[in-house]
Amino acid sequence: MALYPQLIIDALSKVRYPGTGKDLVSAGMVEDDIRIDGNKVSFSLFFDKPNDPFIKSVVKAAETAILTYASPDAEIKGNIRIVTPQALPAEPDKLLPEVKNIIAVSSGKGGVGKSTVAANLAVALAQLGYKVGLLDADIFGPSQPKMFQVEDARPFVQEVNGRELIQPAENYGVKLLSIGFFVNKEDAVLWRGAMASNALKQLISDGNWGELDYFLIDLPPGTSDIHLTMVQTLAITGAIVVTTPQDVALADARKGISMFQSEKINVPVLGLVENMAWFTPAELPENRYYLFGKEGGKQLAEELKIPLLGQIPIVQSIREGGDNGEPVALHSGTMTGEAFRLLAEHMVAQSEERNKQMAPTQRVEVKK
Ligand code: ADP
Repeated sequence: MALYPQLIIDALSKVRYPGTGKDLVSAGMVEDDIRIDGNKVSFSLFFDKPNDPFIKSVVKAAETAILTYASPDAEIKGNIRIVTPQALPAEPDKLLPEVKNIIAVSSGKGGVGKSTVAANLAVALAQLGYKVGLLDADIFGPSQPKMFQVEDARPFVQEVNGRELIQPAENYGVKLLSIGFFVNKEDAVLWRGAMASNALKQLISDGNWGELDYFLIDLPPGTSDIHLTMVQTLAITGAIVVTTPQDVALADARKGISMFQSEKINVPVLGLVENMAWFTPAELPENRYYLFGKEGGKQLAEELKIPLLGQIPIVQSIREGGDNGEPVALHSGTMTGEAFRLLAEHMVAQSEERNKQMAPTQRVEVKK
């Protein structure tokens, strides 16, 4: 399909500027100089400040939107002119100096409840008194803003010691930044490799995370470039793999575990979480029905000699808590709240164990 300027404008109107929540076109950020030559596209975005921390992510989101909505063959490389110069990227070795433990939450396949577990784990850690941050890096379906009821949050920019940083949204004691903040929720922009990686790197380096005991990253399912980018960008303490007891999920969980343990990635696996381990009806809490098979996750953990960090039942309230933006981990004393508290405690024990194994100079201590 031939490209024409309105197609580009329509695509850019799907991208929002997180600072104000307005789309790029209504915000007046798209300059009047869109040029098209065959499938080559050039356009300029206007930013007020040279060190606006959203520049890189917004440019990447704009490129992705053009490829998604205007033409998958559009060539936009090298033709973007930002009216003000770009901010200098942070040095990789200085990333997150105030964060004590970085935990990657992953799964072999989608739909096993990885994001639900990540959200509840973050809340459970906060309930235990830890300082917690969560980065939603699930480019296929960023669901954390909904689970934390901050879908309409505008992560604004704040000056901290002379640097302009992106202030995370915050709820239930958890600081949250999501790749979902860069697109309108009704526009499912398909993030592509390098663009997604760069946008995520920026949320890490320019996020005002401050001091954290635990920084959780909700990774996309499977194995991808994002996984590689994260391990190259950050000193990850360990990974948690979420699975259901079902054979197909276990087979993919196994692949995920071997990816983390491979030479290229080399991230310790802190343990496995068996989600949807059994169904329990609210009115008969003692009854357990093994819908997806019994103890598949437990057996895989035993076989691979990795800790089983927790078994989470499939319960209606967990699904409802996700949909309503009120994670069940908030409610201590309930069966589901306790399941996530235990999971959090086991994860803390494993990461402390991991820190003890490190050289004394690298060791970190978590104080509440
Ligand atoms: P993933 O991140 O692995 O794709 P999600 O966390 O989005 O999976 O979960 C998929 C669906 O299953 C969501 O609707 C979620 O509410 C539901 N879900 C996840 N875990 C549970 C559970 N333990 N009990 C009930 N529903 C769950």
